[in-house]
Amino acid sequence: MALIVHKYGGTSMGSIERIRNVAKRVAKWHKSGHQLIVVLSAMSGETNRLLSLVREISTQPNPRDLDMITSTGEQVSVGLLSIALQEEGVDAVGYAGWQISVKTNSAFTKARIKKIDDKQVLIDLNVGKVVIITGFQGVDSNGRVTTLGRGGSDTSAVAIAAALRANECLIYTDVDGVYTTDPRIVKEARRLNQITFEEMLEMASLGSKVLQIRSVEFAGKYRVKTRVLSSLIDPMIPLDDEMRSGTLITFEENNKMERAIISGIAFQRDEARIAIIGVPDKPSVACQILGLLADANIDVDMIIQNTSIEGKTDLTFTVSRSDYGHVMNILACHAQEHIKAQKVLGDPNMSKVSIIGIGMRSHAEIASTIFRTLLEEGINIEMVSTSEIKISVLINEKFMESAVRLLHKVFKLEQS
Ligand code: ADP
Ligand code: ASP
Ligand code: MG
Repeated sequence: MALIVHKYGGTSMGSIERIRNVAKRVAKWHKSGHQLIVVLSAMSGETNRLLSLVREISTQPNPRDLDMITSTGEQVSVGLLSIALQEEGVDAVGYAGWQISVKTNSAFTKARIKKIDDKQVLIDLNVGKVVIITGFQGVDSNGRVTTLGRGGSDTSAVAIAAALRANECLIYTDVDGVYTTDPRIVKEARRLNQITFEEMLEMASLGSKVLQIRSVEFAGKYRVKTRVLSSLIDPMIPLDDEMRSGTLITFEENNKMERAIISGIAFQRDEARIAIIGVPDKPSVACQILGLLADANIDVDMIIQNTSIEGKTDLTFTVSRSDYGHVMNILACHAQEHIKAQKVLGDPNMSKVSIIGIGMRSHAEIASTIFRTLLEEGINIEMVSTSEIKISVLINEKFMESAVRLLHKVFKLEQS
């Protein structure tokens, strides 16, 4: 008997028929003798629907109120699955994050999990109940409901698996594993049987929304055995087949694993580039600009500072497109008077494409292949950033999908 955490995302919970299938799958696992904790997302479209109601009232809602609203979708899912499981003859009990409790800090809409109480969950598991818990949400030290950021149910699931020392965390979704790139963009994308934790971390942080990045961080920190697999296949397939399906996140660079140079391509569609031109080349200037953005809670991604010419330098950086207007407003207030910049230029229509693979460590030619491929297609690279296992390029959004397809082909990622 093992303790297993299942997580079902929005599409997996997207209709009553799908919820019945989830119940059948959970019942199969439970009847085979395992202890089960099930973490759920809201039904697909529900979180967006709730957010659109808010937008009808205000463009600047209080994040605390937002969390009160968006956390409700997951509660509905928990109640519905609990009822569906009871219809399957399985004793189930459902909890919201605050009831367990999943303790977080107070950063509403992007809270971080600090601690999870296991007491009540263990009591229920030990009397044979399936425990169902809302994903995406927790409670702060003042008893207020918080949410963990979009896609946060993945993080809830892996964190709960870590806290309860589960044997495995199975992330059920609408694709049958992690692919070389988003299969919605490249139909030749290939499913990976396994992916190293480091590569998965890069894929998630560079835009592959198949797993929220913080879930991967939890998996790495607590060595949670995590697998991504499909909820849309027959729920009654033999358990052994299911346990071998999908993509396993591995922690060792297993020598037997076929070592591809490139494992995958991730992309972020909604980027914006901002260039502050002609600022005095003093160490305090970059610090001052980035400090202003940090104070406004704006994450800066790529940063380049050019060589100084006649005591002046240019600072270019990227932010999420949703922060673009806010950043330009902040700079409009400070650029000339305080930072003494000659001008501020911005382009909100940028995308970032990233090539990822631990095999890249020993292959220096990857960057030149990327640059040549994009150049031949007339795609201008606006910024580049690299690490040992990834190369990211910033390009105009209109070229993003074609760049991903081209690079997928050039690196032969469709072949195993
Ligand atoms: P869920 O609702 O189950 O959390 P998500 O929509 O958040 O599911 O994530 C699954 C989606 O992630 C897939 O439908 C796919 O389009 C997208 N995706 C992006 N990159 C990848 C990738 N490399 N491999 C698999 N899926 C990916
Ligand atoms: N329902 C939340 C969202 O849509 C959390 C999740 O699905 O993981 O982002
Ligand atoms: Mg998701």
